[in-house]
Amino acid sequence: MTPRARPTPPAGGHDAVPRISEPGPDAREKIHLEILRRTGAYRTDDHFLLPSGHHAPEFIDKALVTTEPSFTEGLGEIIAKHFAPWPADVVLSTGPGALILAHCVARALPSRPILVYATKGFTGQGRRVRLPDEFTRFVRKSSKVLVVEDLITTGETIRLLIKMVGEAGGVVVGIGCLWQRATKIDLGKEVFSLVKRDFPTYEPATCPQCARGVALNVEFARAEPPVEEPLEAPRPRRRPS
Ligand SMILES: [Zn+2]
Repeated sequence: MTPRARPTPPAGGHDAVPRISEPGPDAREKIHLEILRRTGAYRTDDHFLLPSGHHAPEFIDKALVTTEPSFTEGLGEIIAKHFAPWPADVVLSTGPGALILAHCVARALPSRPILVYATKGFTGQGRRVRLPDEFTRFVRKSSKVLVVEDLITTGETIRLLIKMVGEAGGVVVGIGCLWQRATKIDLGKEVFSLVKRDFPTYEPATCPQCARGVALNVEFARAEPPVEEPLEAPRPRRRPS
C-alpha cells in the first residue's frame, strides 16, 4: 500500500496563525489585525453606529474574537510566550467574556497556572470586581497573577483587579490582551497587547462618512449596554448550626 500524500492545507486554514520567526512589532501587529479580521471581529468596511452614539469607519466586536478556536489558541500562545519569563501561578480572566482567551494563554504557559475569572458589575459605590467564592483561595499571599483581557478601553476594570489581587496579598505580573484601544494609559504593570490601536470616532455632525452620504450600519449599536452579571453578596462559608 502506498502511503497517502499529506493533503495541502486549504488557503486560509489553520496555518494562517503566525508561526514565523520574530517579525518586528509593526509587522506583528498587522498579522494580528488580519487574524481578527478573519474572525469577523474587526471590520473596516463600513460606516458604523457605535453603542455610544458616535460614528466610526472601524469596529471591533468582542463577541466574535474567539469564535475560531485555532486562531484563539495561536493568539493565546503568543501572549503566553511574551509572559513566559515572568512565571504566573494564576491566570485571572477579567470576566467570563475573556475566559476562552485566558484558557488558551493559561494552557500555553510553561508555569502551568490555575485559571480563574472575576465578575464585574455595579454597586452603589460604582464599578466593582470580585472573585467568585470558589476561586478566592487561589488568589492569596504571594500569588503571581497574569491578568487576561480581550479589549482594554479605559483600563478601569484592570485597575480594580490589580487592587483586588494586592489586597489578597498577591501581585499582578502583567496584563495580556488582544486589543488595547486606550493606547496612552499607564496601568503601572507590563501590558502586552496583540493590537494597540485606537481608531477615530466622530460625532454625527462632524463625521466624514455622513458628509459623503454613506449609509449608516446600525447592526452593532445595541440599544442597551452589554449585560454584566449582578454582583451577589458573598455566600456564608458555613451554615449556622
Ligand atoms: Zn457618520
